[in-house]
Amino acid sequence: MSETLFSKIIARQIPAHIIYEDTHVISFLDINPLSYGHILVIPKEAKAQMHELSEESAAALGRVLPKMARALLKVTGADGYNLLQNNGASAHQSVFHVHVHLIPQFSSTGKGLGLNWMPSQLTEGERLREKYATALTEELGRNLGARS
Ligand code: AMP
Repeated sequence: MSETLFSKIIARQIPAHIIYEDTHVISFLDINPLSYGHILVIPKEAKAQMHELSEESAAALGRVLPKMARALLKVTGADGYNLLQNNGASAHQSVFHVHVHLIPQFSSTGKGLGLNWMPSQLTEGERLREKYATALTEELGRNLGARS
């Protein structure tokens, strides 16, 4: 994978406010925060997208997220937070090294991640959902028997 801004932060070639580091993970302040306290948590493994990560990196990332969220809540006084993880340019990824955003939400000011969540009705019907669920479980090598 080509070098990214984040691999340069890991290598200390460019400055960042680093707030946490262990063998597999590093975390630092986002340079253009959506709200006060917005941080990024990234694996040191140089992969562009989540599905490319090794199990070891993914597990290490998952292990630290609750700890980072607890610290963020305590220090910012936020009343909520969002985890955002973009994969691919079409999904608004701009830095092609896996990263998880932790974005504090403040109900007093409305600051935080703005969501334009537009759920649809199930126009495709139950038959298509069934087909999709079956294809996924097959892909995952699982036979889960009766479905809900
Ligand atoms: P994404 O759109 O999910 O790829 O988000 C990339 C994030 O990286 C954005 O929120 C940027 O503000 C942030 N970012 C870019 N360069 C830096 C940097 N040098 N230090 C800290 N955060 C950065």
